[in-house]
Amino acid sequence: MPRPHAAANDFGTLHMTDSTTSSDVLKVTLLGTGIPNPQINAFGTSTLIEAGDQKVLIDCGRGAAIRLSQIGLGVGCVDTIFISHYHSDHFSGLFDMAMTGSIPQKFGGRTGPLHVHGPSGIADIAEGAWQATAPDRAIRVADNEIDPEHMRIVPHEYSEGVVHDKDGLVIRAIEVDHGEFIRPAYAFRVEYAGRVFVHSHDTRYNENLIAQAQYADVFVHEVAAARPEILATHPAVKVAIDHHATPRDVGRVFAQTRPKLAMLTHLVLLKPDPVSTGEVLQELSQEYDGTVVVAEDLMTIQIGRNISVIPYWHGGKPGGMV
Ligand SMILES: [Zn+2]
Ligand SMILES: [Zn+2]
Repeated sequence: MPRPHAAANDFGTLHMTDSTTSSDVLKVTLLGTGIPNPQINAFGTSTLIEAGDQKVLIDCGRGAAIRLSQIGLGVGCVDTIFISHYHSDHFSGLFDMAMTGSIPQKFGGRTGPLHVHGPSGIADIAEGAWQATAPDRAIRVADNEIDPEHMRIVPHEYSEGVVHDKDGLVIRAIEVDHGEFIRPAYAFRVEYAGRVFVHSHDTRYNENLIAQAQYADVFVHEVAAARPEILATHPAVKVAIDHHATPRDVGRVFAQTRPKLAMLTHLVLLKPDPVSTGEVLQELSQEYDGTVVVAEDLMTIQIGRNISVIPYWHGGKPGGMV
């Protein structure tokens, strides 16, 4: 019998104490943990990686610019973005980053073009963005407000393997299985100062990911679930679910990779009669007996000698005080 599941989000902060210096810490902020459905609390997938002086974004879903602002960063603080695949919830925030980031204000402030790394097709997106942003660019150039080159997306096409290797930060793309019409699609393994963070992005149960995600400090995986009667009667729900990993699939992935901390993100729990997060965790616990934390937007993960998971403070008065 699997033991009762010791999950999720009933903590303030996990392992606050961290005796390592900040230069040894890999800092990950989950800017967006949602799916295409517009939701104020779960924007499209976007993850900020901070290592030493570097800031890199992996995926750039809806609202990435707003989430950066919420943690006090200008949109222009990032000039390097990796896109996992071309579903809209993973890159629809790109144009906001390109345009707003080019404005020479504290909220923008990028001093060069935006380098965007993606699978085959990234050159078309860069060219399309250059055309789509032309009217705004023309106004701002006429006003002598911006350098037009700062609004440019410079495309870089990547394939499986190391896609970033700079000052100790190594990012590796891992090809995953997100369905036959979404090839290629990638997960990412991020390494810095001996720390390892893995994000599945969108995928079904995948052996290649399992092979390359071994013994991560933190492994964030997507999940999708629907009730059998809904799958049988709602073809659109079935189409969506078939592209993703079930709770039992994810439990098997965690059991076969043994991360120090397992997390769920990108929960595809569609109407009608959506499966609850609690039901997902219960199902997952049939395969994996470790703690699983359900990600929320703006949750920060500091990976040093210890792993700290810090939820975002949404305001209000602490401790239920009135
Ligand atoms: Zn997605
Ligand atoms: Zn997708």
